[in-house]
Amino acid sequence: MFLRLSIPDVAIGAGIFGLAGALAPNLCACSLPEIYFPGFAIGIVTYLVAAPLLYRVFRLRPMHFPKCPHCGAPDGPWGIPATTQSKCEQLICGHCGAETTFWYNNPDSSEVGSGSSYVLRWPRPLGIWKRLS
Ligand SMILES: [Zn+2]
Repeated sequence: MFLRLSIPDVAIGAGIFGLAGALAPNLCACSLPEIYFPGFAIGIVTYLVAAPLLYRVFRLRPMHFPKCPHCGAPDGPWGIPATTQSKCEQLICGHCGAETTFWYNNPDSSEVGSGSSYVLRWPRPLGIWKRLS
């Protein structure tokens, strides 16, 4: 599995962990050597709550996409979007040229076409996809 890290991904992660690290000493009333574990745990919980909301608001792509269902190219060298809507995006595989639909929110059963499609699962930034068709 390959995680694609872009500048917004790193900025959101660092910002959330930095904020959690700044708040951790006040929340657990401990000092430097003891703060590492609770600070890290607070950072993870804060990331899992806040990052999906930020990704949704700013319509950021997740850090991972599945391999192409047509040619099996790892992590789908997904290129230019064929179409982009609010709930989904159709991407073209840069290796074989096939289109695959990626739903960012659960689609109605009538919305899912006959082509290959995936739906994004929580936590959204990590890019855990479930195959629909
Ligand atoms: Zn492909």
